[in-house]
Amino acid sequence: MRDGFAAGAARPLNRLPAKITSPISVKPAIILFGSPGSGKGTQAKSLRQHLKIPHISTGDMLRAHIEAGDHVGNQARALLKSGKLVPDDLVNELVEIRIAEPDCRSGIILDGYPRTVNQAAVLLKLLGRDGFQTVVVHLIVDCEIIVARLSGRRQCPVCGTLYSLSTHPPKVAGVCDLDGATLVTRDDDRESVIRERLDQYKMQTRPLLNHFRDAGVSIFEINGGSASPEEITGQICDSLIFSGFIARQESISGASVSK
Ligand code: ADP
Repeated sequence: MRDGFAAGAARPLNRLPAKITSPISVKPAIILFGSPGSGKGTQAKSLRQHLKIPHISTGDMLRAHIEAGDHVGNQARALLKSGKLVPDDLVNELVEIRIAEPDCRSGIILDGYPRTVNQAAVLLKLLGRDGFQTVVVHLIVDCEIIVARLSGRRQCPVCGTLYSLSTHPPKVAGVCDLDGATLVTRDDDRESVIRERLDQYKMQTRPLLNHFRDAGVSIFEINGGSASPEEITGQICDSLIFSGFIARQESISGASVSK
């Protein structure tokens, strides 16, 4: 593992994600970090496909509990709707149980967790105990772009695919390209709730960057606002390969490159 490299944004993009294959050289815990709408969910889905490790989204887990109408869902429903964070103990427990599942043995991608200092402290302890190598990928996006993105966001309720009315619309308006389901707007993607979510991020979550730095966790800064989702995935993979978190088997020309 190369120490001190934290300049993902500065590295040239010299390959696209389609050319990148795993295997994983270590057991990475990739924390996708950034404000609501910075592209964490999109990048997590793409990285999951390339790296073949599970995507753990606390937002998706909470929405599944709300949908199921169970005890966790009932505690979380009103908080999600208003853009507030749910209690630390609740999400910490969900994540601890999820990480103990067998598919997490070769690595995980975390999306939307941790979001508070308490969550970060609990998580880093857990990851250290279970032998994960932790890296933070910080997606940096301008606030105005974020509001525009979130208010134009639509999601498939069946497969979870995200669409953007401006940059990635579905082929048929209002219908998922993959399974034909009617797309929905999330309750919390209304402008007043978006502002609340951004405030929560600024107050509770952004300060975690210092916490990660103090804990010696590598942080890659990626510009998440000025390239296509595929190019951003390429930049993230570049940084992870360069720093030894994942291995590359295949170069852009198809030749095998061993680490
Ligand atoms: P986004 O990152 O765009 O806000 P998410 O799906 O990650 O979307 O989160 C949606 C909502 O779920 C949050 O506004 C919050 O209410 C709740 N939530 C998700 N993850 C956490 C977490 N780690 N801690 C507390 N609340 C969370």
